[in-house]
Amino acid sequence: MIRINDIIDKIMEYNPDANLDIIERAYVYSARVHHGQIRLSGEPYLSHPLEVAGILADMNLDVVSVAAALLHDVIEDTYATADEIKVMFGEEICHIVSGVTKLSKLPFHSSQARQAESIRKMILAMADDIRVILIKLADRLHNMRTLQFHKSEQKKIKIAQETLDIYASIAARLGIYWIKNELQDKSFMYLQPEEYTKIKNLVSKDREARENYIESVKNYIKKKMDENNLKCMILGRYKNFYSIYQKMINQNLAFEDVYDIIAFRIILDTIPQCYEALGLVHALWKPVAKKFKDYIGMPKPNMYQSLHTTVIGPVGERIEIQIRTHEMDRVAKSGIAAHWSYKEGKSFNEDIIKTFAWIQNLVENQENFRDPDEFLENVRIDLFPDEIYVFTPNGEIKSLPKGATPIDFAYLIHSEVGNQCTGAKVNGHMVPLQYKLKTGEIVEIITSKGHHPSKDWLNFVKTVKARSRIRQWIKIQEIDRSIALGREMCEKAFRKYRLNFNTLLKSEQMQAVTEHFTFKSVDDLIASVGYGKITPLQIVRKFLTKEEPEETHESIFNKIIGRVRKKKPKTGVVVKGVDDILIKFGKCCQPVPGDSITGYITRGYGVTIHRTNCVNALKMNPERQIAVEWNVEITETYPVKIRVRSYDRVGLLADLAAEISKKGANILTASTELRENGIVDGFFTIAVEDTEHLNKVLTSIKKVRLVQRVSRVDS
Ligand code: MN
Repeated sequence: MIRINDIIDKIMEYNPDANLDIIERAYVYSARVHHGQIRLSGEPYLSHPLEVAGILADMNLDVVSVAAALLHDVIEDTYATADEIKVMFGEEICHIVSGVTKLSKLPFHSSQARQAESIRKMILAMADDIRVILIKLADRLHNMRTLQFHKSEQKKIKIAQETLDIYASIAARLGIYWIKNELQDKSFMYLQPEEYTKIKNLVSKDREARENYIESVKNYIKKKMDENNLKCMILGRYKNFYSIYQKMINQNLAFEDVYDIIAFRIILDTIPQCYEALGLVHALWKPVAKKFKDYIGMPKPNMYQSLHTTVIGPVGERIEIQIRTHEMDRVAKSGIAAHWSYKEGKSFNEDIIKTFAWIQNLVENQENFRDPDEFLENVRIDLFPDEIYVFTPNGEIKSLPKGATPIDFAYLIHSEVGNQCTGAKVNGHMVPLQYKLKTGEIVEIITSKGHHPSKDWLNFVKTVKARSRIRQWIKIQEIDRSIALGREMCEKAFRKYRLNFNTLLKSEQMQAVTEHFTFKSVDDLIASVGYGKITPLQIVRKFLTKEEPEETHESIFNKIIGRVRKKKPKTGVVVKGVDDILIKFGKCCQPVPGDSITGYITRGYGVTIHRTNCVNALKMNPERQIAVEWNVEITETYPVKIRVRSYDRVGLLADLAAEISKKGANILTASTELRENGIVDGFFTIAVEDTEHLNKVLTSIKKVRLVQRVSRVDS
């Protein structure tokens, strides 16, 4: 069992100036709170955090990491609290320990392939400090090393599977291949004991012959390098059992046919030497096509750099060879962790330290990277994806874009769940529907039958699915409204020609009319009336010309002149290029002839007319805007709201009313509101013909005694 002094010795070796006080305090604290706890192995619990801290020290990590490793289980397994850790060891260590605790609390229910990738991403997304993951990996490594003490066979298999699917992959992704290899082989041993033993035996069989083979290959290479004055180190090592097994399975090979169970590595001083060595190896043995990979020119996102090649060796076998510098070899051994070490007193961009504290050393060593920005970007994408991962109440993981809300989540589950969503609980607490979900949260949607989506939801949903489902629902509602409106309009129009719309509705002739207008169904035809696309009169006419039950003056006239006379629009507005469209006036700005106006196509309501300076007109989607103008031939009156501010006096209202009437405007509504200091506001809605008429009214009101100000108001 490792002792605290062993760990301190290790740290002293790679960082003689390290602040060891914090390590010692973390050790004492951990020993105190874990006191009396026993591991399944029978050892005191403290042995576990010590081993984990030892692994991190082996990776040459900073004192904060090692101290946090000593404390990694105290929040979850003892009475210690995060607040206490913060007071005693500072913000940073508290943050890391809390991060490790959060990860171990995630409710993973399965590590099926489908979920595995999500779980991996989720773990990476949750760890805003890479040291959280390094501790988690070391923790898992030690737990796998002591897995034999678990009594339950089932539990062993579950843990091994999770290790293989999740943690070994994360280690590979971060480039910490020695942890990946050990986790894979340990898991393999529990998951497929027979295959594991078989391969283990095969590898150790003929050991002597194989050692001789390794020596001879190394000698060939060494000789070639010496001839060219290249100083190098050559290693031959067995691949881990799990990757040999994978190779047998994937390429359907017998063990005897897996030649490259041994991988060779040539380690040199400089990058140019690496390429030179590559050329020499290819001159010595024929390279296998498409097997060459240049990770020096194009490092992996986890910083791994090396040249990889496969050649046909001295006895016709394939040999895998990696060529790299000593520095690259160091990185390959511990991946991201190789770049991690704290040097106190150096200042960097505050934000970088905060968000990517662990990249500090990397920034110092940026000459190792061609484009440090690109590298940072790669790491950022890997560790902080623009996705979040949340759980259903059953522990299933769902991935959503950052900023997604419970509504997005609901639609992801099912359209009906989305449509009927009335509320949401996150980790058991009610949240507003606009709540932005965060990785790791458990989301429960509350639905109620017959509940409908709201148009407002479109303002905050993030996913395309939610957006399109809500729109779809709104559209269906609009169709329903348009059908109702269209039917009402048709009934009126038909009645005018003494026809019964509802009886004719099911007639063959109506079917024919529907086809004539190229609609699929009668409902579509009626809806298009409600939308303002066609007028009821256009439909009525079809019935008149076909049956001619009662010829109107108009139809006779049309027959005589041989064409359908263009009907004079009934409203006082002309929509350019469109006849007979349903027109409405905006209640907000009450346009009257003379005002500059614009039209807005409202689904289901034809065109709504606004004044061009109306707030609502300014907010319009320009795609749905349409040019309109006043039709001067029509004389109609239009409602306008005005405000008259005056000192209150007896008979004021009567005087105002008289003045308005005198100018030929009808008063539609009138009300007053008393202000402070004897001021009164009178509000009138009056019917005027145009702006000229309105101005006349306003001017004459101004002359009424004690009136201060008169103005047109937008309601
Ligand atoms: Mn642990």
